[in-house]
Amino acid sequence: MRVVVTGGAGFIGSCFVRSAVAGEHPALAGAEIVVLDAFTYAGREANLAPVSGAVRVERGDVRDPARVAEVLAGADLVVHFAAETHVDRSITGAADFVTTNVVGTQVLLQAATDLGVARFVHVSTDEVYGSIESGSWPETHPLEPNSPYSAAKAGSDLLARSYHRTHGLDVVVTRCSNNYGPYQFPEKVVPLFVTRLLDGHTVPLYGDGANVRDWLHVEDHCRAVALVAERGRAGEVYNIGGGTELTNAELTRRLLAAVGVGEDRIEHVTDRKGHDRRYSVDWSKIHDELGWAPRVPFGPGLAATVAWYAEHRDWWAA
Ligand code: NAD
Repeated sequence: MRVVVTGGAGFIGSCFVRSAVAGEHPALAGAEIVVLDAFTYAGREANLAPVSGAVRVERGDVRDPARVAEVLAGADLVVHFAAETHVDRSITGAADFVTTNVVGTQVLLQAATDLGVARFVHVSTDEVYGSIESGSWPETHPLEPNSPYSAAKAGSDLLARSYHRTHGLDVVVTRCSNNYGPYQFPEKVVPLFVTRLLDGHTVPLYGDGANVRDWLHVEDHCRAVALVAERGRAGEVYNIGGGTELTNAELTRRLLAAVGVGEDRIEHVTDRKGHDRRYSVDWSKIHDELGWAPRVPFGPGLAATVAWYAEHRDWWAA
């Protein structure tokens, strides 16, 4: 079996590749793994260093139909992680978000259709649902994205659905909550705060710090994606969540404690424009249908993540 992993040099995609090569996803045992990545600022060769030689790496842009057709030829499965992913960047400039996330996904879906790829897993996000005060979103909830990032992801998510409905492509969509873990580019809150604290700086906490996110370890996300690739039903959406719901202020306090510094390191800054208040997915479908549940408890998972950044200064200082 040949598996093409787009965005396989990024945070989650590289975790998926490393864990597949390590044999953690039984359905992918013995599969040939091909990474398709443009190596933007977020895609790093170092993220694939532990599996160099075990995977084929193809440099290419998902917006380039000829390059995509070349790399997807002969693929049985496409797992599509490639995207522009940082909400703050989408606020200061949304163009790449639209072209990579929307157009790039359409290019991949078309190539997969034309080439007869057997299955396409589209990795979306819980942010497509918008913001929820209480309760949790089921997969049937309308998409009400609020940032250019989540709007572009919603566009790609709906295109994935359309290629299933219109062309019969075997597509499955996942919508996961916030991930944390090693190899995350230090612009996202966990690695940004940890690396700033390790360097003796303050950390910028947005607004009142009361925005709530559900934190899931990246390895749990990758295990869910592999299960969906193996046994998810075509045309269906699977929410992935069930980590730990925390306000940003509480997350910050835990990071301060993990690094061993005090709250004087918090710097309160003006809130992000359009900042979603709370995300929460109902993940009972993937639990009931595929038997998935998170395995990495938040406390030890966060401690190991902080330790990884402390031990890998070369990776993030670069
Ligand atoms: P990331 O920013 O770390 O990595 C994105 C990868 O995509 C990089 O390797 C980059 O080089 C590549 N890429 C970007 N534009 C490309 C293009 N035009 N052509 C080819 N490759 C390109 O992102 P991540 O956090 O690993 O997220 C991966 C996927 O998971 C995204 O689709 C994201 O929306 C989704 N997701 C992320 C989270 C999270 O908490 N990080 C949660 C839910 C869903």
